[in-house]
Amino acid sequence: MKISNEGVCRFCLKTFSGSTMGRHLSACRTKKERDAGEAAAAKKVEKIFRIRVSAYGEFWLHLEMMASSTLADLDGFLRSIWLECCGHLSQFTIHGEAYVPENEDPEDIGAESMAVQLGKVLSVKDKFEYEYDFGSTTYLKGQIVSEREGTLKEKVRILARNRIPEVLCTHCGKPATRFCTECEDFYCRACLPKHGCEEGMALPLVNSPRMGVCGYTGEQDPDDFDRKDRAPDEAVKKRGLPEALIKYREAMKKKDTEL
Ligand SMILES: [Zn+2]
Ligand SMILES: [Zn+2]
Ligand SMILES: [Zn+2]
Ligand SMILES: [Zn+2]
Repeated sequence: MKISNEGVCRFCLKTFSGSTMGRHLSACRTKKERDAGEAAAAKKVEKIFRIRVSAYGEFWLHLEMMASSTLADLDGFLRSIWLECCGHLSQFTIHGEAYVPENEDPEDIGAESMAVQLGKVLSVKDKFEYEYDFGSTTYLKGQIVSEREGTLKEKVRILARNRIPEVLCTHCGKPATRFCTECEDFYCRACLPKHGCEEGMALPLVNSPRMGVCGYTGEQDPDDFDRKDRAPDEAVKKRGLPEALIKYREAMKKKDTEL
């Protein structure tokens, strides 16, 4: 069974797997042309980092940010696209050093502040870890993939992200739309009320590693746009629950018992 954690390059709109997207983005001609055009029109250019962030193998993002942006900027972005449920504490770990939000009084807990520029604490190839919520923690991993000189209109530019994992209803095999947090299984809209658990225990499936955790329902899902064009996939029906989702659920259960 193959993990299908593909996504769309937002420049040429072609689809790549999670493992080949990085290489594609380095080579994408549409992106190169747009970057060059924007740099030529800009008054000054700055150092831009390409960053990959991933979780549980299934969820990933390729981003660009100015090296002069802060860890706090990245924290805010990760919260808004993947994580924020009720304002939990978060932390970056870089070269063994912990970085927490400025309002958590970093000095008091022996940590550094997130109000620091990316370029001051990270260089190309450097890896970092990130945790959101120290109760039901969501763990992310990241790396500075490369850097370039140029200009960015937005604080964080999304280059590509994974498509929402396709999961099938445990009862009828149709595409699932809900995750029941009571029995930890997936259901379609029709089977959910019939399966025995309280309906209020179910959460919508969202394109986030926080799916099914702490009432997380997600705010934005920008890659939905290309799902409409996709024909119902017979192969997906036969495939059953994607292996990666099983791993993801096991990982979440393991984290829960560890903490
Ligand atoms: Zn491309
Ligand atoms: Zn929460
Ligand atoms: Zn069903
Ligand atoms: Zn249930």
